[in-house]
Amino acid sequence: MQKVLIIEDERDIADLIGFNLLRAGYEIFKAHDGIEGTEVALRECPDLILLDLMLPGRDGYAVFRELRRDPRTANTPVIMLTARAQTEDRIQGLEAGADDYLTKPFSPKELMLRVQAILKRSEMSPGVVHFTHGPFRFDKNALKFYLDNEPTDLTATEFKLMLFLCERAGKTHDRNDLLRTVWGYSDTTHSRTLDTHMKRLRQKLGTHGSWVETIRGIGYSIVKAEA
Ligand code: CA
Repeated sequence: MQKVLIIEDERDIADLIGFNLLRAGYEIFKAHDGIEGTEVALRECPDLILLDLMLPGRDGYAVFRELRRDPRTANTPVIMLTARAQTEDRIQGLEAGADDYLTKPFSPKELMLRVQAILKRSEMSPGVVHFTHGPFRFDKNALKFYLDNEPTDLTATEFKLMLFLCERAGKTHDRNDLLRTVWGYSDTTHSRTLDTHMKRLRQKLGTHGSWVETIRGIGYSIVKAEA
């Protein structure tokens, strides 16, 4: 059973999320402030964390930074929960490395779509476990990524984006395709999400960042490897 941790001080929201996740078959943990949330995350090592940004004790960003520093939760997918007015927060959150965000108020359906898109992508199918493209190597089973044979940390979202592009190298993918594939949905406000992830991915690739091409007005592509 996959575990989801909800870190949210507004109890009615935490309960509503918990109810929907339980009904969908997930095991849930709840924490109502940032300090408790960090403790539960490190103890339970959940498969996904829903993290409210405005929290008493320790705010969502501080929790997020701490979880990313700890090897137990460094790559755990995180969906940030933000209030509608906090556009800057949302962008900051994505730039900090969150996998996705939900703007309050959100519907249970919206919540489940996001959760399922993220959890589905973490369980890779068996079969071909390794995939190599140019200087990039993927271990699909362990979700590990190697750059020139050096292990390189990618979040689950970055891994999925990169693998999708590399397995289809030389083809241009429009923004909507990429959003649908990786996040499970696509709309104009989420274009920013994609760009933020692509920007960070390029930075992580360092000198190999030039393998990623921006196709202006359309989307992204990975350069085909020479035979
Ligand atoms: Ca709050």
